[in-house]
Amino acid sequence: MAKCPFAKQMKISGSSGTFTSGPFKIVHHTTEGGTAEGAFDAFRQHKSDPHFTVDATTIFQHIDTGEAGRALRNAPGGVQTNRDSAIQIEVVGFAHRPKTRPTLENVRRLCRWIEKQHGVPRVWPNGPPKPAVNGQDPGGHNRDAATWDKKGGHYGHSNVPENTHWDPGYTQTEVDFLMLADANESLESIEFDSIILEDPGLADDVSRMPDHGDPNPATPLETPRPARKPRARKPAAKSRKGSAAAAEPS
Ligand SMILES: [Zn+2]
Repeated sequence: MAKCPFAKQMKISGSSGTFTSGPFKIVHHTTEGGTAEGAFDAFRQHKSDPHFTVDATTIFQHIDTGEAGRALRNAPGGVQTNRDSAIQIEVVGFAHRPKTRPTLENVRRLCRWIEKQHGVPRVWPNGPPKPAVNGQDPGGHNRDAATWDKKGGHYGHSNVPENTHWDPGYTQTEVDFLMLADANESLESIEFDSIILEDPGLADDVSRMPDHGDPNPATPLETPRPARKPRARKPAAKSRKGSAAAAEPS
């Protein structure tokens, strides 16, 4: 339904299906790594693609915004997450680190396009994401499921029901910067002087949320099931061949 005209198209795993419910919303993640390439490897490995990956130079689009992404956990029962009209952005960086101005400018530009394209209001129905406290998960995230299902707007991964991750960890200043109407509005505000222009430490840092790459870690449990059936059949087939064990098959 929609490809962003200023994004670099880059399909990885494809969509997780059609949207099933909900008004359109924008979900903000951090990749929990220092490079876009590292994030792409994780998406490939876990089939956990968002719609967009954004760094300081480039906006990549992996999935059409008319179809569902893959970066959220979806528990059996409850509300839909990926398929609840959630358009997902993975910001290259870490929940516990400040985000750079060039990256935030790209995210902001993309958000304004998604809002216009899909009628997403510029509000945070479960509140803005909480920033890290002493570099760690601050806890106490509002993940209200009814709000998520019924209200369009912006959500952090930290504000999505059935999920435990606390990214993107935006500060209030970063949220204010992202919510500016356009690139010319209020950029002279002294508040935004605190936003860093670059982050030399980004590439060498490690995530404090190491399982972020796999939104559905429970899925490997499904693989032993089909393996059990052939194992159970083999002994039965063998015993039929042996004429001496004629009593056994029954
Ligand atoms: Zn996330």
